[in-house]
Amino acid sequence: MPKGEMKKPLLLCSGDPESPLPDPGVPAIGILGTGDFSRSLAARLIVSGHRVVVGSRNPRRGGSSLFPAAVEVMSQQEAAVHADVLFVALFPEHYSTLAGLRGALAGKVLVDVSNAAELGRGRPSNAERLADLFPESDVVKAFNVISAWALLAGPRDGNRQVPICSNSERAKNVVTELSRSMGFVPMDAGRLSSARNVEDAPLRLFPSWRGPILCALGLFLFFYTYNFVRGVLLPYLVKGQNLFYRLPVETVNSALPAVALEMLALVYLPGLLAALLQLWWGTKYWRFPDWLDCWLRQRKQLGLVSFFCAALHAVYSLCLPMRRSARYRLLNAAYKQVQDKVENSWVEEEVWRMELYLSFGILALGVMSLLAITSLPSVGNALTWREFTFIQSRLGYVALTITTLHALTFGWNRAFDPAQYALYLPPSFVLELPLPCAVLLGRLGLALPCVARRLACIRRGWESGRHVRFQPPSEAGNSDTPEDVSDGGGNPAMLL
Ligand code: NAP
Repeated sequence: MPKGEMKKPLLLCSGDPESPLPDPGVPAIGILGTGDFSRSLAARLIVSGHRVVVGSRNPRRGGSSLFPAAVEVMSQQEAAVHADVLFVALFPEHYSTLAGLRGALAGKVLVDVSNAAELGRGRPSNAERLADLFPESDVVKAFNVISAWALLAGPRDGNRQVPICSNSERAKNVVTELSRSMGFVPMDAGRLSSARNVEDAPLRLFPSWRGPILCALGLFLFFYTYNFVRGVLLPYLVKGQNLFYRLPVETVNSALPAVALEMLALVYLPGLLAALLQLWWGTKYWRFPDWLDCWLRQRKQLGLVSFFCAALHAVYSLCLPMRRSARYRLLNAAYKQVQDKVENSWVEEEVWRMELYLSFGILALGVMSLLAITSLPSVGNALTWREFTFIQSRLGYVALTITTLHALTFGWNRAFDPAQYALYLPPSFVLELPLPCAVLLGRLGLALPCVARRLACIRRGWESGRHVRFQPPSEAGNSDTPEDVSDGGGNPAMLL
């Protein structure tokens, strides 16, 4: 990297360099440090109409040319005196170098913007360490989740939410107003003891996706290996057929629909288990086991992974006839037909099977797309709770039913054909169907009037152990069905 490159600003300032200098009488917002975050924050504050002073260990070298003209770069001591609210834009290991400013910073609001270097529970957060260093200042944890790039680009891009925590309500209100004035959405994250969580947030890598993705990978590996052994390896070992060309497309495409179907069934299975537990306990006031609680919370991710696999399956299936192997096979079949003097190879049953199974596949993908779109927060927020429930629960079960029909019509009567078991392994659709069928049957069981009535009562607070007169929802003129209300145990239901 050329010498001096590090001195360049991360992005050019988006503010108007010709903008008038703010009134010196207006209270200034201070920033300690002159790095990337400081420059972006200063530019955003200036664009939002604030007066900004920046404190540097060496104001001459602090690169005032890299800040908007309206920003005043001065010594750390001067900045501490000029501002009542100061952002500490230093790495936490350098906080101790500010100890000399303790007197000047007394009674002022210090905003800690630092992130954790690594995920770690138990150790005090950077913000708590800053509060220990400056016991007479009000320390607030905020803005660490906003990158320097996002600050400069403005709150229209990226994440707009700013979690804010502090032990001082006054300081929290000041920073809340400040973030609002910059166009961000402040979010009260409680007291400074939750700063560790706020600092860890940017380090977490898809925490709610890990389980669903691992589950999908495990299922994919199982079905891919099974189809490889059954469709490629055994024919090679037993009959000497070389079918290894199937590995990149055909074998992948036979594993993908199985994963999509199993994952979709796994979206609805925990809701059924929760309902069965509530029926068994006769109350909704007992907490579900942790594993079920966690499973219930990850249904949206399970559904989206299922949709992803289904979409990939659709693309792979469209490409199947384009392959050379498919063209050779078609030509060979036609040639053999001519040799056998067969004029018409039309099989009515096969034609109908294919028409039905393709139609079910297209319909299933359409309904799953709708579910995926409504799971986006921006779309979901525009729906009422009843509309959201209708789409995610009712249409969700419709998607599961159509997807299962797609697999059933693909299998047709081949599950009962002994020729399919020539190598002692059933076709993979036989393995993938029991789970979705069990979930659909379970749902039908819950819809039986006596079961649905008892469940509806439980979910409205009735408890079997307490002999209190209770008016069932239907008699009370309410048409809520089991999945329209919370899954119980105080767990808000996510119904995808
Ligand atoms: P940076 O570019 O390295 O700037 C840090 C500043 O600290 C320097 O400009 C320097 O200012 C001062 N400094 C450097 N060495 C020092 C030392 N030995 N003793 C005392 N002060 C020293 O870092 P940054 O990217 O702006 O990050 C600053 C803080 O913001 C970090 O805690 C980071 O976790 C947090 N943050 C950054 C981002 C981001 O996107 N960059 C996003 C969220 C949070 P002077 O020489 O002028 O004193």
